[in-house]
Formats: sequence, C-alpha cells, structure tokens
Amino acid sequence: MRPRIVAGNWKMNTLTASARELAKAVVAGVQGIDGVQTILCPPFPYLGVVAEAIAGSSVALGAQNCHSEMSGAYTGEVSAPMLLDVGCKYVIIGHSERRHGMHEADALVNGKLHTAIEAGLTVILCVGETLEERKAKRMERVFERQVVAALAGLPRAALNRLIIAYEPVWAIGTGETATPEQAQSAHLYIRSHLDKLYGISTTPILYGGSVKPDNAAALFAQPDVDGGLIGGASLKAADFLAIVRAAKR
Ligand code: PEP
Repeated sequence: MRPRIVAGNWKMNTLTASARELAKAVVAGVQGIDGVQTILCPPFPYLGVVAEAIAGSSVALGAQNCHSEMSGAYTGEVSAPMLLDVGCKYVIIGHSERRHGMHEADALVNGKLHTAIEAGLTVILCVGETLEERKAKRMERVFERQVVAALAGLPRAALNRLIIAYEPVWAIGTGETATPEQAQSAHLYIRSHLDKLYGISTTPILYGGSVKPDNAAALFAQPDVDGGLIGGASLKAADFLAIVRAAKR
C-alpha cells in the first residue's frame, strides 16, 4: 500500500520562536494520528531549530530547495549534503514559486534532483500546469515534459526516493483548489506515465494548492491522491493537524 504523506511548506515565513512553537505544536498534535508521515519544511535558517523541536517524534524534516552541485563556489547557496547534515530527510524541488519566480528550468530541476537523491535525500518533486496551459488543454503535455525532464538519467532504483507533488500553479496560494476530480485525473495521468516510463506505479503523489481543513478529506479520498503538500494552512498548527488527520486512511 502506498504511504500517506502530508508535508508543510512554510515558504519564507516564521522566525526562531514561531518556528519552534509551530513545530512543537505539530509534534504534540500528531501523537495518536497513525499512518501518516508528517514532514515540516521550514526556511533554511530554522532547520536546526525545527530539527531540535521534532527530535524523537515521528515528524520528519525537509527543506524547500537545494543546489544542483554537492559543494563548491556557489555563494549564498545550500547543498544537499548540508541538508542531510542538519537532519533533513526530504527536499522540495521544482516548486512553481522557483520555476516561475526564480526562472528554474527543467534542466536545473533535473540536476538538483540527481544531486539530492545521490546525497541520500528523498525528493518531493513539484509539477503542475499554469492556468493558461489548463485552458489550452495542454496539462498532459506539461506533466509529461516536467516529469520526463526532471527524471532524465535517473536509474529506476532511485525512484524509491521520489515523491511527486501535483501542484496546479493556478491553485497555489490563491484560495482556488482543484476539484477532487481534477486532482484525481491529473494524479492518475502522472501515475500511468511513471508506470509507462519505469514500470513503477507506487510512487506517492501528493496534491498541493490551497488545501484547507474543509477540502482536504475530499481530495485525499481520491484513489490516486496520497496526501498533500500544504503551504498557507501549514502555518497554523490547528489547520495543519486537521489536514494530517484527514489524510488518515
Ligand atoms: C505550496 O506552497 O506548495 C502550496 C501548495 O501552497 P498553498 O497551500 O498556500 O496553496
């Protein structure tokens, strides 16, 4: 059975005290919620603070990005080995705010993914169409391009370190959520494509895009939705925990 996963992407939010408080509230709240892997992805400066707050719990640590090289002269960047060193197990790669806001192309996403997996991290790879691409009915071409480009050159065995997050760009931080049917059809397409490429249909696929406590259960009830990547609602412990509960089978 595929695992259930809920990851909180805190983006560029929190400071030391609020990061610690939020992480501790999540740790306290997930006790008794079995069968859902909860992941917190704070900003880089608070990875250590959050690692300390979640130590000994079932909550895992993730980062929001990493560089495509293992080390070197890349001022201001953070490497995958550094993330592992401070306690991360996961890293988000290819988030639309980086693809679109920071002009990260498919080839760079591919380089980051290779390096992160080689370093020992599990990658949460974000894919998803813009509103324009949806209106033009080009979603499937976009998924194929993004998935094929991101995974190019990756050995089949590396796919056990991969989670995909389907995040329609028009639903991220907008309050507009894909309907459960839209999410299911995208997830099924991505899963079938992975099966076609690699003969693997067990990769966890998360939905992301304005997931809230009141829409999470319907999204997570879809057969190919294995959990969520949560932005805004992950900043309030009560909302995030309600979403984690909704992911329980
Ligand atoms: C995200 O940042 O990955 C995300 C899905 O954000 P939000 O939940 O705020 O739409």
